[in-house]
Amino acid sequence: MGRIFGPVPSRRLGRSLGVDVVPYKTCTFNCVYCECGATTRLTCDREEFYPLETLLDELRDSLAELRTPPDAITLSGAGEPTLYGRLGELIEEIGKLSSIPVAVITNSSLLFLPEVRADLSRADIVLPSLDAAVEIPFRRINRPHPSCTLERLTGGLGSFLDEYHGTVLLEILPVEGYNTDDDDLAALAAFVSSRRIDRIQLNTAVRPGTERAVGPLDAERLERIRHLFGPRCEIVAAAPARTCSEDPAAADRIVSLLERRPCTAEDIHRALGIPVPGVIKILETMTGSGRVVADEHDGVQFYTAAQRDRP
Ligand code: SF4
Repeated sequence: MGRIFGPVPSRRLGRSLGVDVVPYKTCTFNCVYCECGATTRLTCDREEFYPLETLLDELRDSLAELRTPPDAITLSGAGEPTLYGRLGELIEEIGKLSSIPVAVITNSSLLFLPEVRADLSRADIVLPSLDAAVEIPFRRINRPHPSCTLERLTGGLGSFLDEYHGTVLLEILPVEGYNTDDDDLAALAAFVSSRRIDRIQLNTAVRPGTERAVGPLDAERLERIRHLFGPRCEIVAAAPARTCSEDPAAADRIVSLLERRPCTAEDIHRALGIPVPGVIKILETMTGSGRVVADEHDGVQFYTAAQRDRP
């Protein structure tokens, strides 16, 4: 299965070609707002989940097929990319393929490891996240692996910010009832105030997360929070005006993929960059209308276009 997806439009990076370096929902966290679904493998153990050469071959092929180069090649996906054991080498080798900036999105949990910081030092852009600077809200919103403590995370992030020379875009995602008490936000603002960060990017949960109670903050609330973080802070969340299931273009893109091969919801997410809950919603609508056929194979749910030319 392909581990390259996109290019997908990213509010933070432009047109981003994604490289999924860890298996689906392999993560050090199980965030309440995760739009990819619940973490199925909660771990802090780094591994070479896929051979480095395979990832490079797939990326080389994808780049060769693109008419317009993407704005960034981003190591991300539905999990924590710093869990990939040969991350530094991978970033280095990707850098040799083109002059496109290499970006890494991370939840910051493994930055306490010097080898992870050394790996990330090779990237052009790092997008760490930090949702809380107080232990209780940190545990409430990120639901980390038991070995992850906030002290270790903030210590590692602080060291990384001191050492790194590339561009840092730090993401904060406030969720009402989880990390938005005045004291919690003040602690976060104090942590970031003297750090070398290019932009602080305030996001909100515009798509369904793993917990039903999680929803987006309104524009006024986001604006008030933005003020706490000063002029470096910007709001990057889009207004939650449409859901994936209402986007006819997304449905057409899924059908065109399913005309070529049967896919699971996760395959579609990886190929098109549409979050899994959105993919599932669209598939439910299209199986109901007969446009897509659902088939179980070896206990796994696959989807095929009804009009597909079957061999
Ligand atoms: S939002 Fe990111 S860090 Fe949190 S569970 Fe999902 S993949 Fe992991």
